[in-house]
Amino acid sequence: MKLIFLIFLFFINSAFAYTLNNNFGATFKKRKVNVYVTSTTTCANAGLTIYELQDLISPAINDFWNTVPTSSLQLKNAGILDVGSDTSYNDNELCSFTDSACTGAVIPAVKEIIIACNDNTTNFDSNNILAVTIPNNFKGRYINGSVVLINNRNGSAFKKLTTKEKISVLAHEIGHAIGLGHSAESAALMYYKTIGTRNFLGQDDIDGVSALYPVTFDGCGLFKGSIGDMKGPLPPKGKGPSEEYFWTLVALGFIASASLSKLLKRFRKYA
Ligand SMILES: [Zn+2]
Repeated sequence: MKLIFLIFLFFINSAFAYTLNNNFGATFKKRKVNVYVTSTTTCANAGLTIYELQDLISPAINDFWNTVPTSSLQLKNAGILDVGSDTSYNDNELCSFTDSACTGAVIPAVKEIIIACNDNTTNFDSNNILAVTIPNNFKGRYINGSVVLINNRNGSAFKKLTTKEKISVLAHEIGHAIGLGHSAESAALMYYKTIGTRNFLGQDDIDGVSALYPVTFDGCGLFKGSIGDMKGPLPPKGKGPSEEYFWTLVALGFIASASLSKLLKRFRKYA
Protein backbone atom coordinates (compact mmCIF):
# COMPACT_ATOMS: atom_id res chain seq x y z
CA MET A 1 0.00 0.00 0.00
CA LYS A 2 2.88 2.37 0.82
CA LEU A 3 4.21 2.06 -2.70
CA ILE A 4 0.84 2.78 -4.27
CA PHE A 5 0.47 5.87 -2.07
CA LEU A 6 3.94 7.11 -3.02
CA ILE A 7 3.17 6.65 -6.70
CA PHE A 8 -0.03 8.65 -6.21
CA LEU A 9 1.91 11.44 -4.45
CA PHE A 10 4.39 11.59 -7.29
CA PHE A 11 1.51 11.81 -9.76
CA ILE A 12 -0.25 14.73 -8.06
CA ASN A 13 3.02 16.59 -7.62
CA SER A 14 3.91 16.37 -11.27
CA ALA A 15 0.46 16.84 -12.77
CA PHE A 16 0.21 20.64 -12.66
CA ALA A 17 1.66 23.20 -15.03
CA TYR A 18 -0.53 26.21 -14.34
CA THR A 19 0.89 29.28 -12.62
CA LEU A 20 -0.68 32.06 -10.60
CA ASN A 21 -1.04 35.66 -11.66
CA ASN A 22 0.65 36.98 -8.54
CA ASN A 23 3.07 35.57 -6.02
CA PHE A 24 0.57 35.32 -3.19
CA GLY A 25 -2.13 33.37 -5.02
CA ALA A 26 -4.79 36.07 -4.76
CA THR A 27 -8.37 35.26 -5.70
CA PHE A 28 -11.67 37.05 -5.56
CA LYS A 29 -13.11 36.55 -2.09
CA LYS A 30 -16.67 36.23 -3.30
CA ARG A 31 -17.50 33.41 -5.67
CA LYS A 32 -19.96 35.33 -7.88
CA VAL A 33 -18.07 37.93 -9.87
CA ASN A 34 -19.60 40.34 -12.40
CA VAL A 35 -17.94 41.08 -15.73
CA TYR A 36 -18.68 44.52 -17.22
CA VAL A 37 -17.85 46.58 -20.29
CA THR A 38 -17.32 50.29 -19.57
CA SER A 39 -19.96 52.60 -21.05
CA THR A 40 -17.45 55.04 -22.59
CA THR A 41 -15.33 52.48 -24.40
CA THR A 42 -14.90 52.56 -28.16
CA CYS A 43 -13.43 49.55 -29.94
CA ALA A 44 -13.42 50.53 -33.62
CA ASN A 45 -9.71 49.72 -34.09
CA ALA A 46 -10.30 46.34 -32.43
CA GLY A 47 -13.07 45.66 -34.95
CA LEU A 48 -15.97 45.76 -32.49
CA THR A 49 -18.82 47.91 -31.32
CA ILE A 50 -19.33 48.16 -27.57
CA TYR A 51 -22.34 45.82 -27.88
CA GLU A 52 -20.40 43.27 -29.92
CA LEU A 53 -17.75 43.33 -27.20
CA GLN A 54 -20.41 42.77 -24.56
CA ASP A 55 -21.80 39.83 -26.58
CA LEU A 56 -18.38 38.14 -26.51
CA ILE A 57 -18.39 38.00 -22.70
CA SER A 58 -21.10 35.33 -22.37
CA PRO A 59 -19.35 32.65 -24.47
CA ALA A 60 -15.97 33.67 -22.95
CA ILE A 61 -17.26 32.80 -19.46
CA ASN A 62 -20.03 30.24 -20.05
CA ASP A 63 -18.03 28.01 -22.45
CA PHE A 64 -14.92 28.16 -20.27
CA TRP A 65 -14.68 29.26 -16.62
CA ASN A 66 -18.31 28.55 -15.69
CA THR A 67 -18.11 24.93 -16.87
CA VAL A 68 -15.95 23.50 -14.06
CA PRO A 69 -17.90 21.49 -11.45
CA THR A 70 -14.89 21.44 -9.11
CA SER A 71 -14.67 25.25 -9.07
CA SER A 72 -16.98 27.44 -6.97
CA LEU A 73 -16.38 30.53 -9.12
CA GLN A 74 -19.37 31.80 -11.10
CA LEU A 75 -18.82 34.66 -13.53
CA LYS A 76 -21.72 36.74 -14.81
CA ASN A 77 -22.04 38.92 -17.90
CA ALA A 78 -23.33 42.02 -16.09
CA GLY A 79 -23.60 44.24 -19.17
CA ILE A 80 -22.50 47.85 -19.54
CA LEU A 81 -21.04 49.63 -16.50
CA ASP A 82 -21.98 53.35 -16.46
CA VAL A 83 -18.72 55.21 -15.82
CA GLY A 84 -20.18 58.65 -16.56
CA SER A 85 -17.80 60.69 -18.68
CA ASP A 86 -14.70 58.82 -17.48
CA THR A 87 -12.59 57.89 -20.50
CA SER A 88 -9.51 56.86 -18.50
CA TYR A 89 -10.24 53.20 -19.31
CA ASN A 90 -9.75 54.02 -23.01
CA ASP A 91 -6.67 56.21 -22.72
CA ASN A 92 -4.71 55.65 -19.52
CA GLU A 93 -2.01 53.29 -18.36
CA LEU A 94 -2.98 50.09 -16.53
CA CYS A 95 -0.84 49.54 -13.43
CA SER A 96 -0.72 46.97 -10.70
CA PHE A 97 -0.67 48.37 -7.19
CA THR A 98 2.94 47.28 -6.73
CA ASP A 99 4.26 48.95 -9.88
CA SER A 100 6.15 52.06 -8.77
CA ALA A 101 7.30 52.70 -12.35
CA CYS A 102 3.72 53.61 -13.21
CA THR A 103 3.66 57.37 -12.89
CA GLY A 104 1.46 58.61 -15.72
CA ALA A 105 -2.32 58.93 -15.80
CA VAL A 106 -3.51 55.56 -14.61
CA ILE A 107 -6.74 53.61 -14.72
CA PRO A 108 -8.49 53.76 -11.33
CA ALA A 109 -8.70 50.76 -9.02
CA VAL A 110 -11.83 48.83 -9.99
CA LYS A 111 -14.26 46.38 -8.48
CA GLU A 112 -15.27 43.12 -10.17
CA ILE A 113 -13.92 42.55 -13.71
CA ILE A 114 -13.96 45.55 -16.04
CA ILE A 115 -13.33 45.24 -19.80
CA ALA A 116 -12.48 48.15 -22.08
CA CYS A 117 -10.71 48.87 -25.34
CA ASN A 118 -7.59 50.99 -24.88
CA ASP A 119 -5.03 52.67 -27.13
CA ASN A 120 -2.35 53.69 -24.62
CA THR A 121 1.07 53.03 -26.15
CA THR A 122 2.60 52.05 -22.79
CA ASN A 123 -0.01 49.31 -22.39
CA PHE A 124 0.39 48.32 -26.03
CA ASP A 125 3.87 49.04 -27.33
CA SER A 126 3.13 46.81 -30.30
CA ASN A 127 0.08 46.22 -32.46
CA ASN A 128 0.69 42.50 -32.00
CA ILE A 129 -0.23 42.59 -28.31
CA LEU A 130 -3.86 41.52 -28.33
CA ALA A 131 -4.85 42.40 -24.77
CA VAL A 132 -3.49 43.03 -21.29
CA THR A 133 -5.02 42.18 -17.93
CA ILE A 134 -4.04 43.24 -14.43
CA PRO A 135 -5.83 42.81 -11.12
CA ASN A 136 -5.41 46.45 -9.98
CA ASN A 137 -7.34 46.42 -6.73
CA PHE A 138 -6.42 44.15 -3.82
CA LYS A 139 -7.55 43.87 -0.25
CA GLY A 140 -5.07 41.76 1.68
CA ARG A 141 -4.71 38.51 -0.20
CA TYR A 142 -7.90 39.02 -2.16
CA ILE A 143 -8.54 40.56 -5.56
CA ASN A 144 -11.18 43.30 -5.41
CA GLY A 145 -11.10 44.07 -9.10
CA SER A 146 -9.31 43.38 -12.38
CA VAL A 147 -9.09 45.30 -15.64
CA VAL A 148 -9.00 43.64 -19.06
CA LEU A 149 -7.89 45.92 -21.89
CA ILE A 150 -8.20 45.07 -25.56
CA ASN A 151 -5.73 46.64 -27.96
CA ASN A 152 -7.58 49.44 -29.73
CA ARG A 153 -4.56 51.00 -31.42
CA ASN A 154 -4.75 51.75 -35.10
CA GLY A 155 -3.52 48.51 -36.73
CA SER A 156 -4.34 46.31 -33.73
CA ALA A 157 -3.93 42.61 -34.42
CA PHE A 158 -7.10 41.97 -32.41
CA LYS A 159 -9.17 43.38 -35.29
CA LYS A 160 -7.90 40.66 -37.64
CA LEU A 161 -9.05 37.79 -35.40
CA THR A 162 -12.15 35.73 -36.12
CA THR A 163 -15.03 36.00 -33.65
CA LYS A 164 -14.09 32.59 -32.17
CA GLU A 165 -10.50 33.74 -31.72
CA LYS A 166 -11.68 36.96 -30.06
CA ILE A 167 -13.77 34.89 -27.63
CA SER A 168 -10.75 32.66 -26.91
CA VAL A 169 -8.54 35.69 -26.20
CA LEU A 170 -11.17 37.22 -23.94
CA ALA A 171 -11.55 33.92 -22.05
CA HIS A 172 -7.73 33.75 -21.65
CA GLU A 173 -7.62 37.34 -20.31
CA ILE A 174 -10.46 36.62 -17.89
CA GLY A 175 -8.32 33.71 -16.68
CA HIS A 176 -5.66 36.28 -15.71
CA ALA A 177 -8.35 38.50 -14.14
CA ILE A 178 -9.41 35.71 -11.76
CA GLY A 179 -5.84 35.02 -10.65
CA LEU A 180 -4.26 32.57 -13.08
CA GLY A 181 -0.94 33.02 -14.83
CA HIS A 182 0.32 31.16 -17.88
CA SER A 183 0.55 27.42 -18.40
CA ALA A 184 3.28 25.41 -20.10
CA GLU A 185 0.64 22.94 -21.35
CA SER A 186 -0.11 23.54 -25.04
CA ALA A 187 -3.67 22.23 -24.55
CA ALA A 188 -4.42 24.88 -21.93
CA LEU A 189 -6.40 28.05 -22.62
CA MET A 190 -3.78 29.75 -20.41
CA TYR A 191 -0.92 28.50 -22.64
CA TYR A 192 1.75 31.18 -22.82
CA LYS A 193 1.95 31.30 -26.62
CA THR A 194 -0.67 32.33 -29.17
CA ILE A 195 -3.70 30.16 -28.57
CA GLY A 196 -5.76 30.60 -31.76
CA THR A 197 -9.26 29.22 -31.29
CA ARG A 198 -10.14 27.28 -28.15
CA ASN A 199 -13.58 25.83 -27.58
CA PHE A 200 -13.11 24.63 -24.01
CA LEU A 201 -10.68 24.62 -21.10
CA GLY A 202 -7.73 22.26 -20.93
CA GLN A 203 -7.25 19.99 -17.92
CA ASP A 204 -4.55 22.31 -16.61
CA ASP A 205 -6.96 25.29 -16.64
CA ILE A 206 -9.51 23.15 -14.78
CA ASP A 207 -6.86 22.20 -12.20
CA GLY A 208 -5.86 25.86 -11.79
CA VAL A 209 -9.33 27.34 -11.30
CA SER A 210 -10.32 24.43 -9.03
CA ALA A 211 -7.26 25.07 -6.84
CA LEU A 212 -7.95 28.81 -6.61
CA TYR A 213 -11.70 28.45 -6.08
CA PRO A 214 -12.22 25.05 -4.47
CA VAL A 215 -15.69 23.67 -3.90
CA THR A 216 -16.38 23.09 -0.21
CA PHE A 217 -18.43 20.18 1.04
CA ASP A 218 -20.25 21.58 4.04
CA GLY A 219 -23.10 19.08 4.02
CA CYS A 220 -21.39 15.71 4.26
CA GLY A 221 -18.67 16.70 6.71
CA LEU A 222 -15.83 15.59 4.47
CA PHE A 223 -13.95 18.82 3.94
CA LYS A 224 -14.75 22.32 5.03
CA GLY A 225 -13.24 25.71 4.48
CA SER A 226 -12.27 27.90 1.60
CA ILE A 227 -8.92 29.14 0.38
CA GLY A 228 -9.27 32.08 2.82
CA ASP A 229 -9.16 29.68 5.78
CA MET A 230 -5.75 28.29 4.96
CA LYS A 231 -3.12 28.71 7.65
CA GLY A 232 0.14 28.20 5.83
CA PRO A 233 1.71 30.28 3.08
CA LEU A 234 0.44 29.81 -0.45
CA PRO A 235 2.71 28.02 -2.89
CA PRO A 236 5.13 30.30 -4.69
CA LYS A 237 4.35 31.36 -8.22
CA GLY A 238 4.25 28.45 -10.61
CA LYS A 239 4.58 25.81 -7.92
CA GLY A 240 1.28 24.05 -8.36
CA PRO A 241 -1.88 23.68 -6.35
CA SER A 242 -2.99 25.38 -3.17
CA GLU A 243 -2.23 23.72 0.11
CA GLU A 244 -5.86 22.85 0.74
CA TYR A 245 -6.30 21.35 -2.70
CA PHE A 246 -3.08 19.40 -2.27
CA TRP A 247 -4.15 17.86 1.05
CA THR A 248 -7.61 17.10 -0.30
CA LEU A 249 -5.93 15.14 -3.07
CA VAL A 250 -3.63 13.46 -0.57
CA ALA A 251 -6.68 12.39 1.48
CA LEU A 252 -8.40 11.08 -1.64
CA GLY A 253 -5.17 9.34 -2.66
CA PHE A 254 -4.94 7.71 0.75
CA ILE A 255 -8.49 6.40 0.52
CA ALA A 256 -7.91 5.22 -3.06
CA SER A 257 -4.63 3.51 -2.12
CA ALA A 258 -6.23 1.78 0.88
CA SER A 259 -9.10 0.49 -1.26
CA LEU A 260 -6.76 -0.65 -3.99
CA SER A 261 -4.51 -2.39 -1.51
CA LYS A 262 -7.50 -4.22 0.03
CA LEU A 263 -8.66 -5.23 -3.41
CA LEU A 264 -5.20 -6.55 -4.30
CA LYS A 265 -5.08 -8.58 -1.07
CA ARG A 266 -8.42 -10.11 -1.93
CA PHE A 267 -7.27 -10.85 -5.41
CA ARG A 268 -4.13 -12.58 -4.10
CA LYS A 269 -6.30 -14.75 -1.86
CA TYR A 270 -8.14 -16.14 -4.83
CA ALA A 271 -5.20 -16.25 -7.22
ZN1 LIG B 1 -1.81 35.69 -21.09
